[in-house]
Amino acid sequence: MLSRLQDIVGESNATDRDTVLLTYSRDASLVDTLKPDFVVRPSTIQHISDILRLANKTGTPVIAAGGRCGMGGACLPQKGGIMLDMTGINHVVITPENMTVTVGAGCTWGNLLYELKQKGFKPGFRGPYSGHSATVGGSVSSNSIGLASARWGQAPQGVTSLTVVLPEGDILETGSRINPHARPFNRFTSTADLTGLFCGDHSFLGVKYDITLRIYPYPESIEYCAFGFSNIEDATGAFYEIQKLMIAEDMTMVCDKASIRGVIEEMADLFPDIESLFVVILEEPSADISSAKQQLCQAIAQKYRGKDLGDMFPKVYWNSKFEMITPLFKYGMWNATCHCLETFRIPEIVSELKTTFRDYGIEKKGLFSLICAMPALNNCVSFVGHVYGKEDDAESLELIKEMWDKKKKDVWEYGGVPYWTGIAWYPYLEMTPQFKATLERIKKALDPKCILNPGAFSLEY
Ligand SMILES: Cc1cc2nc3c(=O)[nH]c(=O)nc-3n(C[C@H](O)[C@H](O)[C@H](O)COP(=O)(O)OP(=O)(O)OC[C@H]3O[C@@H](n4cnc5c(N)ncnc54)[C@H](O)[C@@H]3O)c2cc1C
Repeated sequence: MLSRLQDIVGESNATDRDTVLLTYSRDASLVDTLKPDFVVRPSTIQHISDILRLANKTGTPVIAAGGRCGMGGACLPQKGGIMLDMTGINHVVITPENMTVTVGAGCTWGNLLYELKQKGFKPGFRGPYSGHSATVGGSVSSNSIGLASARWGQAPQGVTSLTVVLPEGDILETGSRINPHARPFNRFTSTADLTGLFCGDHSFLGVKYDITLRIYPYPESIEYCAFGFSNIEDATGAFYEIQKLMIAEDMTMVCDKASIRGVIEEMADLFPDIESLFVVILEEPSADISSAKQQLCQAIAQKYRGKDLGDMFPKVYWNSKFEMITPLFKYGMWNATCHCLETFRIPEIVSELKTTFRDYGIEKKGLFSLICAMPALNNCVSFVGHVYGKEDDAESLELIKEMWDKKKKDVWEYGGVPYWTGIAWYPYLEMTPQFKATLERIKKALDPKCILNPGAFSLEY
């Protein structure tokens, strides 16, 4: 098998060396290691197609991996087989005439933002907080929510077209590319939206080769706001009122005192009466528009008794986007339960989460917890409630794992919906029988031998 893979991608781009397999056996989560049997680095679409054809002949499972910085083991192979390291496919082709960029699935968000800024553009969704490592393909395949989701939604929302290699090796283009004479400039065209089929699929239905995204002019004016509140109800009231207007490029709420202290200690000391705060970023083509919007945000915050915290913190936050979470590694690793939640439910779920933290003695044990929320368009947020534990503290890690399993059940039961999933989540996704059966029928039609990511979403045959 190895020599056949090497025939396709070249000797140095396919290996079964144990040291390499080991480094590919983890993502950024605490999920147990799972090793592939081969790691292969394709650099062309033909490579991917030939590998999938070979895998079908030999019955070998295949999984795609991007930056491998998921928090639930999404890119780890449950059945061994071939792991496709997609990071060598990272072209960036900007088409200013139709305001799109076609980007290789393995390109990182950091690289994409840099290339676009050089030419005076930005994408809509700006990447997850892990954007120095996370790839566009990984984020679109796991429905990421993150920077600039307040205005532009989740990672797939800016996609106009995908080039996907199907499980049996055929190549499919979606969106306006259903017409071979058309460029990939629009998503919804003459027939069903097959682009959507592959968004959030966790490499279950196809391997994305490249992705075309809408782009926008780089803003002339950026304004920054931060507001503090003495309780979560007022904070949510003001946050939601601004969110509904869809005027913010980005918003993030830090929901409780312990989280504020962990993220920006100085802020907690300077403003001891503040229990929750949020930042708002405004990006506009002119200073008149951004400052008018800033005044509107200030008026809304004031109505909810918010304190204006100035622009220092949001400036640091927005200008060092992908470094915001990294300093929190000082508290150790975390088990993440990020999920979509209706914004109006934030106070209820914060209170429930804090009860759980109390029951598990999180604060007493000196463990750091982070509760925050960031909008996805106008009515919901990605709700985050993490507890951090040092890797050398087995007792705390055990406690956090126990709490994590409970929280995953709770999230599903109270009507939250995770977006990125993975091995850690699959057993908790109790989909309706109709949905699961339909997904299985689609999977069987595209992938009769169940080659791509078998076991994902607890489906295999
Ligand atoms: C510090 C930190 C901060 C984070 N912040 C966020 C955040 O703000 N928002 C968020 O959503 N997540 C966040 N995450 C989780 C994770 O980084 C993101 O979900 C990211 O989008 C995953 O991208 P990736 O390239 O690392 O994908 P991987 O982890 O490599 O893969 C994710 C899934 O996509 C599939 N996949 C990858 N490439 C392809 C392809 N070309 N074709 C088909 N399927 C493919 C994989 O098989 C896997 O199922 C964070 C993680 C860390 C460590």
